[in-house]
Amino acid sequence: MNVFIALISALCLLIFYGCSGLAQEQSEVSDEEATTVMNASLRADQDSVPEGTIASFDSPSSLKSSPPVAPVTATNWTDLYHPRYLTGKFTAKDHPDFQVVPKAWTDGDGTYYLHARTIEAFGEMRNAALNDGVRLTIVSAFRNFDRQKAIWEAKWEGRRVLEGKINAALAYPDPADRARAILRYSSMPGTSRHHWGTDLDLNRLTNSYYESGQGLKVYEWLNENAAEYGFCQPYTAKGTQRPNGYEEEKWHWSFTPISSMLTAYAEANLRDTMISGFAGAKSAPQIEVVENYVLGINPECRK
Ligand SMILES: [Zn+2]
Repeated sequence: MNVFIALISALCLLIFYGCSGLAQEQSEVSDEEATTVMNASLRADQDSVPEGTIASFDSPSSLKSSPPVAPVTATNWTDLYHPRYLTGKFTAKDHPDFQVVPKAWTDGDGTYYLHARTIEAFGEMRNAALNDGVRLTIVSAFRNFDRQKAIWEAKWEGRRVLEGKINAALAYPDPADRARAILRYSSMPGTSRHHWGTDLDLNRLTNSYYESGQGLKVYEWLNENAAEYGFCQPYTAKGTQRPNGYEEEKWHWSFTPISSMLTAYAEANLRDTMISGFAGAKSAPQIEVVENYVLGINPECRK
């Protein structure tokens, strides 16, 4: 009888350790495989992008140290779920999913691009608004990394003053303070929702316009109807719902069927150290730009 119990015990021990050992081995293999796939996709991407047309993606290795929740599987930079797309390191005219916004919908001040699905939804919303006597005019749309870098560096170096005629280079010698001051209304290159082809600015870039007269009518119409067409205001008034990020922007609207997925992708994959390639980029980790600004939006726009 004792021999029988000893045999059973030995068998149980063998099964227990054998199985857990195997499980450990499998998990090691799958982590390694995931890294290999990720590296291969980034290499494939670097090979396929023509030199000189797009700013390089600076630190793909940072992806390896932070395993994403949703794995990076894109092999093509035109894929939505790719760091290059997320950080705006491409030109809209070279992207197959981007289109020129009809001039009649804009202030006519240049050529505006958006993702084709954003244009389609905005066209329907614009028509509905016109039927209600409200005109929605796009005054800014897609901006790529290089465009945002030009805006940012002009402010960083004091060539362009901030609101209140403040020269940021003189007023804020500390890099983190200077970044926070610019970030009240301007995005750091690589973190702007305008990189995504989903976000646009309407009519006037001042909150006061939307607080009386025709502007108030526009804002009330948007609050009542925009969600029906997939649009949401990401930068609402700061408060318990939205403690961090940019100041309120009543003019900035986002097409959430795409941008909510990109926000989730950013949360899983974008790291402060990946925000680089411009003057003052070292402040990105100091101010935790991804957590506080990229993710510091109206929670309604994440649905
Ligand atoms: Zn905007």
